[in-house]
Amino acid sequence: MRYGIVGFGTAGYHAAQAIREQDKAGEVHVYGDTGLAPYNPMLTTYYIFGKLPRSGLFPFGPLEEVADRLGLTLHHERVQKVRAQDLAVETERGVQRYDKILIATGATAFAPPVKGLSPQDAHLMRTVDDAQRLKDRLDRGDVRSAVVVGASMAGIKVVEVLEKYGVRVCLADLAPHIFPLAAYPEVSAAIEKRVAKRGIDLRFGATIDHMELWNGQKTAVMTDGSVVPADLVSLCIGTRAATQVVQGEVDIDRGILVNERMETSAPGVYAAGDCAQGVNLESGEKQIIGLWANANRQGAAAGANMAGGEARFEGNILHNITHFMDMDFIGFGDNRIQGELLEQGALDGDGLYVRAVISGGRVAGANILDSYRISGILKNYMLRLFAGEGGSLPDYQRAMLLQAGLRAEFIDRMEVMTRG
Ligand SMILES: Cc1cc2nc3c(=O)[nH]c(=O)nc-3n(C[C@H](O)[C@H](O)[C@H](O)COP(=O)(O)OP(=O)(O)OC[C@H]3O[C@@H](n4cnc5c(N)ncnc54)[C@H](O)[C@@H]3O)c2cc1C
Repeated sequence: MRYGIVGFGTAGYHAAQAIREQDKAGEVHVYGDTGLAPYNPMLTTYYIFGKLPRSGLFPFGPLEEVADRLGLTLHHERVQKVRAQDLAVETERGVQRYDKILIATGATAFAPPVKGLSPQDAHLMRTVDDAQRLKDRLDRGDVRSAVVVGASMAGIKVVEVLEKYGVRVCLADLAPHIFPLAAYPEVSAAIEKRVAKRGIDLRFGATIDHMELWNGQKTAVMTDGSVVPADLVSLCIGTRAATQVVQGEVDIDRGILVNERMETSAPGVYAAGDCAQGVNLESGEKQIIGLWANANRQGAAAGANMAGGEARFEGNILHNITHFMDMDFIGFGDNRIQGELLEQGALDGDGLYVRAVISGGRVAGANILDSYRISGILKNYMLRLFAGEGGSLPDYQRAMLLQAGLRAEFIDRMEVMTRG
């Protein structure tokens, strides 16, 4: 068998590993356009901060080691097109045919152009190159002020890096609150208070309109008319699934549509990771869930199926787990769903705070501040409820939640409410 993997991030890596587990003799061809080993985009800001050496960005080891370990044939080339009907991969150097092809091209950071912003002052945050560029710029020591656009998980991590370098930072977002897709407004407000206390200038309901030079100072003119000094601008506005290589070849919505086996609409062509649109278990709809663990699971399922196995990945729920500025924030589920509120702790106090919204016998969403220890158990619980299993926690998980600081009354109420 000949397998072609297009894109070598974590989804591509997990697929290659799963193929090799089942098919020791098959040819596994991997196409990557970076010349680097699979890297972890969520660690880019940790590298700039100095919490990690550059090698820490590559969790599976150097490229040659990975290729040796998994018996891969590497193609350091950008794929231009995948022709689904012929199972063919096209690059500048020619066309190769395969028995099975995986699209694992991930996503790219995008930002609309900002008038007056020179390219050397505009920064995105996704790739190793993005991280290196920002690090080199900050190490030069000439950045005194910056605007970060996008109060997302990526945006706040860039803010943290800039703060460490002693840069005066403004964080702006058109949304009314920080983490608008994950946090409940009350929780956002508490996080904003803590961030503002550290001297970060927060502006919501506004974004950058254009750049101007004021008395020699590069200045961002915001959409609300205010002005902010900005030697550089970091645009953490969003990502787009990288689907161009299969445009017109398979069904695509926001991402490449896949079933539980990670099959696309074209036989023999699979997709996994941030380029793929699988099932959101909460809504039942297909949605891109751009998360590391999701890409791993989808990649592993795709690889196993490509090699003739029978693997299913039913779907996932939205979840964000992030550590920044000495706090932990965890958001699960859809924060727009209203329901009965279950709360422990005080938002303006120290220590664990949990807010869960129960709707239709399920935990529709949850926010947790300052305890990452309970996140895995809570997510597992939510997934079991979505799968239609009972509302009681196994004893060991209950014990773990109690140990992490959740009170027995909270757990009891959650169990009763989810029993319906
Ligand atoms: C700043 C930041 C913070 C994040 N924080 C979190 C977090 O806290 N928690 C979490 O779970 N997730 C987080 N994520 C998301 C997580 O990193 C991604 O979900 C995950 O890395 C997706 O993996 P992937 O393999 O699908 O895609 P990618 O990592 O994007 O890999 C795709 C690869 O394919 C290559 N490629 C693309 N097109 C082609 C082509 N035509 N030819 C050849 N190669 C190609 C790309 O160059 C890339 O190397 C964060 C991401 C960023 C950027």
